[in-house]
Amino acid sequence: MKNSILILALAAVSAISCGTEKGKEQIQQEPAMNETSNPALEYIDYHSYSKPQEAVVRHLNWEANIDFDQKTLSATATYTIDHMQGVDTIYLDVRNLTINKVNRDDSQEDLVVAIHKKEPFLGDQLAIPITASTKTISIEYLATAEGADALQFLDPIQTAGKKHPFLFTQSQAILARTWLPCQDSPGIRFTYEAEVTVPKELMALMSATNPTEKNENGVYHFKMEQPVPSYLFALAVGDLEYKSLGKNTGVYAEPSVIESAAYEFEDIQSMVDTASALYGPYQWGMYDVIVLPPSFPFGGMENPRLTFATPTIIAGDKSLTALIAHELAHSWSGNLVTNASWEDIWLNEGFTVYFENRIMEEIFGADFANMLALLSYQDLQDEIEWLNSENRSADTRLKVDLKGRNPDDGLTGIPYDKGFFLLKLIEETVGREEWDSFLKTYFNAFKFKVMTTESFLDYLDKELLSKNAEWETTIQPNKWIFEEGLPDNCPKITSTKFETVERELAKWTKGGKASAIQSSEWVTPQWLYFINLINGTLSQRQMSELDGVFGFTKSGNSEIKAAWFEKVIPNNYEGLGSSVEDFLIEVGRRKFLTPIYKALLKSEGGLPAAKTIYEKARPNYHTVSSESMDKLLGYK
Ligand SMILES: [Zn+2]
Repeated sequence: MKNSILILALAAVSAISCGTEKGKEQIQQEPAMNETSNPALEYIDYHSYSKPQEAVVRHLNWEANIDFDQKTLSATATYTIDHMQGVDTIYLDVRNLTINKVNRDDSQEDLVVAIHKKEPFLGDQLAIPITASTKTISIEYLATAEGADALQFLDPIQTAGKKHPFLFTQSQAILARTWLPCQDSPGIRFTYEAEVTVPKELMALMSATNPTEKNENGVYHFKMEQPVPSYLFALAVGDLEYKSLGKNTGVYAEPSVIESAAYEFEDIQSMVDTASALYGPYQWGMYDVIVLPPSFPFGGMENPRLTFATPTIIAGDKSLTALIAHELAHSWSGNLVTNASWEDIWLNEGFTVYFENRIMEEIFGADFANMLALLSYQDLQDEIEWLNSENRSADTRLKVDLKGRNPDDGLTGIPYDKGFFLLKLIEETVGREEWDSFLKTYFNAFKFKVMTTESFLDYLDKELLSKNAEWETTIQPNKWIFEEGLPDNCPKITSTKFETVERELAKWTKGGKASAIQSSEWVTPQWLYFINLINGTLSQRQMSELDGVFGFTKSGNSEIKAAWFEKVIPNNYEGLGSSVEDFLIEVGRRKFLTPIYKALLKSEGGLPAAKTIYEKARPNYHTVSSESMDKLLGYK
């Protein structure tokens, strides 16, 4: 690891021209720098073996064929590269790929490449020889379902329609290298074009310009003109239909899901317009959402032009669409201004939770946004308590130390919720007008660039905090970012809507009837708050009374259902029947799996019961989820 760390100079990455030859040690100590409008950044990405300061990929031409019978992807990737004078090798990240052939535009022969074996979770370093005149290299390779952790091939039975297979990818954080040899670091961007061949009855979509109809030959063409990092390289293949939702928005889903998805996401166009009005123009052309089968491991993934979303946000009443606001907000924070390494992920996620909250406030009102913020505060407290109990207090810092660790370890609630509250504190301290104008300038100044935590702090200081001597001392951003836990100056949010919930719940706990709870006007965040507040030790009678009146176990709202399961499983609620098992087998979203399996561990059945369900459910999970659950349950 020590020899393979990558120190990047942003300026060098974005403006390699000619320069002097530099040895490895020299580069690590003194990164090549150059003029650009962005100040030169120095940082370490522990999670890539590429050396973009020497030779970097600018454009990808990708031809791929998907074989659903074999569950393989065979492809030829042709890269247009830039390199420093005298550099004789370009390095790419690969993991579990079979490399069949490598060629160069300036050579007739098949090239001999070296694959340097490295750490299992990081994969290997592919070293390809280049000369002074090399402009492109091309690689023929094969990715398989077993080897490529990014790919999830689904059998027809795992889809909504049950007739056709499905394939989707999840590249973040460092899984792109399992289906594309690439410089797999969030700070390295490339444009791409692709031709993807799939079975005739299916449609292919990418994080690029997309078709809106199936074609006859199953061959689809894509173009991504804005440069993107590898973690945003994405593909989905299935029996899909498209429905437009506005001038630059729409939704893709399986035919049986498309109508309910279109209804649920009706507000997407106004979300895009609202977001653009807040922080500057939407830079990616179309904003579409694809609803994936339930095994998708995340709520959503912000693949540019095409958000990937879990079907568990389709509740029938648009109550869970904050998730779409979140993925949309990433079109600015993350996709436009990108965390330089995964240690800076709070710059992607904290900004996005803040921005999401602002979009929700514009569309659904301040009351609603406040409720979401308070739920986020509850999550944050739980997360800190849990990390402390796991001896992981160091992970409660916003700038997290990931040296020698899988970047997924940093993907706790901290970058999201603690990041959100830091930005909320800045907003409250400097005033919304100043803060919004700062953010708009920030997104514009650093669009299509990378950002480190340190460089953000410099910029914040220079452009905002230096205007008033008291602001810095009131906020103490360094404390938030580099120290553990939640600082005392965390903003306090109040919600009259939640106060109503507290009052109604208090009446019930003092012996009132569940049917007397005045809840006809309640919205989803209030129900979640209600369930969160219920005392942890309920009797069978109490649980069954609540369930009888409110139907939590059979709720069509997956957030409510999952919160309820989390609460009553440790109390061994008898009314659950097979519903927990059914849910865990169908849904692969990690956000639900983790607390529900944890709750099972606390139940009477304990680990054996959790493992029995897990064994049945595991084949339906993407590796992102199964790796986390393997760890949680000690599964081998
Ligand atoms: Zn996010």
